[in-house]
Amino acid sequence: MVNEISRERLEQNVRKLVSFHTRHNMSSRDNPSNGIGAAWSWVRSEMEKNIPASEGRLEVKFEEYTIGGKGQRIPYPVTLKNVIATLKGTDNDDDRKIIISAHLDSRAQRDNDSTSLAPGADDDGSGIAAILEMVRIMSSGKFPATIIFMAVTGEEHGLYGARHMAAKAKNENWNIIAMLNNDMIGNSSSSETNLNDNMRVRIFSEGVPAFETEQMASLRKQTSGENDGKARQLARYIKEIAERYIDQLTVTMVFRNDRFGRGGDHSPFCDQGFTAVRICEFNENYDRTHKVPAVVNGIQEGDLPEYVDYEYVRKNTGLNLATIANLALAPYEPANCGIITGSLTNSTTLRWDAPSKGQKPTGYYILMRETWQPLWEKKIFVTGTEVTLPYSKDNYFFGIQSVSASGHESLTVFPGQVRKTVVRKPTN
Ligand SMILES: [Zn+2]
Repeated sequence: MVNEISRERLEQNVRKLVSFHTRHNMSSRDNPSNGIGAAWSWVRSEMEKNIPASEGRLEVKFEEYTIGGKGQRIPYPVTLKNVIATLKGTDNDDDRKIIISAHLDSRAQRDNDSTSLAPGADDDGSGIAAILEMVRIMSSGKFPATIIFMAVTGEEHGLYGARHMAAKAKNENWNIIAMLNNDMIGNSSSSETNLNDNMRVRIFSEGVPAFETEQMASLRKQTSGENDGKARQLARYIKEIAERYIDQLTVTMVFRNDRFGRGGDHSPFCDQGFTAVRICEFNENYDRTHKVPAVVNGIQEGDLPEYVDYEYVRKNTGLNLATIANLALAPYEPANCGIITGSLTNSTTLRWDAPSKGQKPTGYYILMRETWQPLWEKKIFVTGTEVTLPYSKDNYFFGIQSVSASGHESLTVFPGQVRKTVVRKPTN
């Protein structure tokens, strides 16, 4: 599937988005060729083309919400639409959802300038182009878990489209195992620093979660789990899978939720307690972002399509595709994962339960690393649901993944402490 990603199609998608002149949240909603309404209608129709190949499993919908009012950044009420394509999983008992998101809106310099050219080729035409390419390639695939492709609006005025979706997901109790926000994945050079690199991409992930109950906080403190939250595990997973499938791409994990003091469409999902990360180019170009195209002091400003590195977008699309395909094909995570601490010993006994839903794992990976290391260092395959390793739990961190017969791993579970030794019937 990664090899089916077309650089030419990605470029066509970006150029088509730019052709709407502006995708500002207050721009025209009913002009067929200009403004945000033309953009969401086009994205919807592109997604709908894949319904036949999905044998009816792909459903494409608008999700409407109203924002703005007196004294707000948008000074009057505006009804906006997100475009949501849901590729229903092939296993009816599988309630897992994987979300891949980008934002459709663009902006110029001034917050309320809804008429100037605002191409938004990289920000975030690159993310939307990637999503359209993934819907095209993945709709004919058979994945047990459900994949939701979101093109959200309202981002540039306060993440409104994503907030709406995160609140809906919380209300409806969605079992979201991962949310990947793609915002700016196509710029590889900076005119400010003269850096140029399309072989490296950033994944931002929160450490201590934005949403944490007292119970979660106490477990975190007890297990020193501040670097092992769910978003961090997802970031490590993306790094491993992307580098397995995509050539000439190194994933740099940034251990913060977003850029310094800033946020993105994954943040409302984190706030609601979901596992969400941001994927973003390594070098941003501030001569281009949120600028009206013009030559200023000999420098071409503006987020124009000719400055997007489509080979880089292709690789970053592959990162997303490989990650969500692996996750959607993997078994559920192991349940009740714990470290037995009944008696003092220099070995470590891990115990867990097989997932109660979905496909039966062929086995499990035990992941290990020294406590000061950012990445897992050892990966040990085991069958059964208990293992004792000759490594001290005082000196290492451990994680557990389910793995299918075809080798697709679930996300990693960071085991909590199990105080008592309980005698249990051995299982296979
Ligand atoms: Zn953006």
